[in-house]
Amino acid sequence: MASKGFITIPKTKVLRLRRGRVHTSLLGSPVHTPENADGLVGVDIETVDGLVSAIAPAGTFPNNQGIDLNSGIVWPTFVDSHCHLDISHTWERSPNVDGTFKSALAATAADHRINSSYDDVRRRFEFGLQCAFAHGVAAIRTHVDSDETEAERHWTVFGEMREKWAGRVELQATSLTAIDVFGTDFGPKLADLVVKFGGNLGAVTPVGEDDDHGDISPRFQALLDRVFELAEERNLNLDFHVDESGRQGARALGLIARTALRRRFRGDILCGHCCSLSLQPEQMVQETLIACAEAEISVVSLPMCNMYLQDRVKARTPRWRGITLLHEMAEYGIPVAVGQDDCRNAFHAYGDHNMLEVFATAVRAAHLDRPFGRWPQIATLTPARFMKLKDYGSITIGKPANLILYKARTMSELISRPQTERVVLRRGLAIDTTLPDYSNLDDLQ
Ligand SMILES: [Zn+2]
Repeated sequence: MASKGFITIPKTKVLRLRRGRVHTSLLGSPVHTPENADGLVGVDIETVDGLVSAIAPAGTFPNNQGIDLNSGIVWPTFVDSHCHLDISHTWERSPNVDGTFKSALAATAADHRINSSYDDVRRRFEFGLQCAFAHGVAAIRTHVDSDETEAERHWTVFGEMREKWAGRVELQATSLTAIDVFGTDFGPKLADLVVKFGGNLGAVTPVGEDDDHGDISPRFQALLDRVFELAEERNLNLDFHVDESGRQGARALGLIARTALRRRFRGDILCGHCCSLSLQPEQMVQETLIACAEAEISVVSLPMCNMYLQDRVKARTPRWRGITLLHEMAEYGIPVAVGQDDCRNAFHAYGDHNMLEVFATAVRAAHLDRPFGRWPQIATLTPARFMKLKDYGSITIGKPANLILYKARTMSELISRPQTERVVLRRGLAIDTTLPDYSNLDDLQ
């Protein structure tokens, strides 16, 4: 049955929402009213023809007009800057036998060999989009598996889905392949394919046999320079999978930053994961963070996937959380976000493209509270900036009314429950928030 949530939103030209609460870090237009201990302010919001037309202190609109939100939180729709829509939702057919990163790589490679049809990729990709849309995610940057045997097929699915879902979930993409590929003839061909689809150039940083992010190979720097060169020739931005392990020798992040500085690289650079940084010596950490800040590198952490994969040793409790140094990066002025990463595949057995769950996980695991400060931006405004989506990530007069209405009135209430009763407004209209049924993919499992 179609679900539009706990309150009924009429289809009208002018919509007035009374007595809501918005986190100050997510307000793009100032409201002159005091914030509470959570950083929330009481607001009335008006939309006209799907655009936010007024944001005023709660109680400004007459009581007999519009919808009373009863102090419920209003959030801008989410933005996910790191996801894998083409390889997700394969768990039942290709699970991870022991939960490790190495087994995830092996299971994914085997799955690609057996299940390689266009339709298979497209249906799982679209299932993920349906989940994301229903949870109030309005934009996603997905990584696209780009080995020579699959690149064309996976990028074509991405192109089809980007067109089909435009206006509901804005899609961007980044190539995902071992960095070794850029030492082969396929490297420039892949870069050209990325140009054709308007994507970002990306790679995972381990070289050759060391496929689970260990010590940096002597061959790494030359391959990295080649990636930069291909990007520079084509005016592409870069987006890497970096140091996804707890090994101190995994230190590609600093090398990427120093390479960008040496080459005076003019494009954007986003680095995902950066897990090993959390375990490196303090001096190395400081040097890396200084270089990243100088090179204007942005970072996206993937807490759900990395808590699943990192520090997994059979019959032993994990001793660290797999999350990069979010507080320290923010301190150095490095923009940081969180993303969903893999869902229900060998890299991560769980996940539903629910960015509120990702945000809540990050808050609990990385202590992004007391105070919440600007942390609500890590799943909204900051990834929207990475993706240059000016209309997303904040609640701003003149911008589209893409809003999520929650019953929760405080940050504790918001983070404590799954918020299944949300109302998602896209351009001022309530969407159906029913999640797709798992059985839709049964014949692919
Ligand atoms: Zn990833």
